[in-house]
Amino acid sequence: DEDPRIHDIKTRIRVVPNFPKPGIMFQDITTLLLNPKAFKDTIDLFVERYKGKNISVVAGIEARGFIFGPPIALAIGAKFVPLRKPRKLPGEVISEKYILEYGRDCLEMHVGAVKSGERALVVDDLIATGGTLCAAMNLLERAGAEVVECACVIELPDLKGRERLNGKPLYVLVESH
Ligand code: AMP
Repeated sequence: DEDPRIHDIKTRIRVVPNFPKPGIMFQDITTLLLNPKAFKDTIDLFVERYKGKNISVVAGIEARGFIFGPPIALAIGAKFVPLRKPRKLPGEVISEKYILEYGRDCLEMHVGAVKSGERALVVDDLIATGGTLCAAMNLLERAGAEVVECACVIELPDLKGRERLNGKPLYVLVESH
């Protein structure tokens, strides 16, 4: 049933226990990037799903959404919009604060990057609690865009982040328990 490409992608993700702090099983996608076929398969799987869906914006979340988002955007003919950590973008921004496991963080997007009525795909490497994707969707919706779907390489389903997406569809290639 499973696409053999997905099986191979799964084997290329290195799991590092207790990084960056005790109790976290860090899902390291840099080992996936080292294999050109597995990296290309990852992008192709997303492109096969999203081409022809009239998506005009791929929004990538800093930092690892900047690795997977741009090749998807180029292949489907969409623009790429970076959603960045605070004080990185030089122009006028809108901001969304969100809660992390320890503490809080914020994402920003340039005003004018996305127009009302645009169809957007949000891309990141991984969904854990879903707080980051939720903030990203809020930014796009505040700009008047329609978020078509969120796409991640990895989901940690035990953290139930999907339930925080207000029913918005989430597509992932790999689940890690
Ligand atoms: P969350 O907002 O809880 O869904 O966390 C998702 C964000 O944190 C993504 O940008 C991930 O890159 C990062 N992240 C959270 N947990 C992990 C993990 N176990 N391994 C790698 N990255 C993680």
